[in-house]
Amino acid sequence: MARYQHILLAVDFFEQDEVVIERAQELAAVYQAKLSVIHVVDNIPIVDTGYGGEMPFQIDFTNQLVDIAKAKLAKLAEKLAIAKDQVWLELGSAKLEIIRVAEEQSVDLIVVGSHGRHGLSLLLGSTANSILHHAKCDVLAVRLPTG
Ligand code: AMP
Repeated sequence: MARYQHILLAVDFFEQDEVVIERAQELAAVYQAKLSVIHVVDNIPIVDTGYGGEMPFQIDFTNQLVDIAKAKLAKLAEKLAIAKDQVWLELGSAKLEIIRVAEEQSVDLIVVGSHGRHGLSLLLGSTANSILHHAKCDVLAVRLPTG
């Protein structure tokens, strides 16, 4: 059996994250592997081009989302005893950032939920599916009950 040395846990802070977190934690213990955690904040300014020039302002919640995510990640890292340099908070596309960090940090197992906020009741969400297809390392999609 392969021996994993560096496991990357991807959390989207959606309802069923707890199951994914527990599975990653168990595997890290079994393999005595380093455990890192990543959350990616989608960079989506709310701009409806349909309103054109009549829209008086653009709303960008990115900074607020980053602050909330930072606090949540710090709390989770403390709970899992994960060092600060193994906590990744990235901005952009979740699938691309998770794959990038996994490659750069020589991760050999990525642990994701089968679906999360982007795939509410799907069997396999779009982020999970994309990571499964494009990651160069093993990927564990923890099956979550569909809603
Ligand atoms: P999805 O495929 O988007 O429904 O999400 C499936 C899984 O991908 C989630 O359970 C997380 O493990 C991971 N994931 C999705 N979005 C993010 C994100 N923004 N940051 C980190 N992990 C994510």
